[in-house]
Amino acid sequence: METVAPDCQHPPGRFVPRIDRNACEGKGPCVPACPYHVLALGTLDARQRRGLSLVGRLKAWAHGYRQAQLVAADLCRACGACVRVCPEHAITLQRSLPGETP
Ligand code: SF4
Repeated sequence: METVAPDCQHPPGRFVPRIDRNACEGKGPCVPACPYHVLALGTLDARQRRGLSLVGRLKAWAHGYRQAQLVAADLCRACGACVRVCPEHAITLQRSLPGETP
């Protein structure tokens, strides 16, 4: 049976959460907040680490490079729950582009 959050307004995949890698501290309230299991905590890969600012690198190192990761971006329905619970204001919703890999 499909779970539907009451304030979801878009079909899956139209929007995608963007995580500011220089802001996320891997605290993780976004993970249980998402009714569609779009997010999980994980470790930044080499490509993600290369994109960090100096301050972002220091913060990421201090948190063991643990951050929120998109594990099922195509299931996002743009309900905004993850945006609301992030204490670092690190998540925004952006319209996804055709063929784009988040
Ligand atoms: S907006 Fe956030 S909480 Fe809502 S479906 Fe998308 S990833 Fe999940």
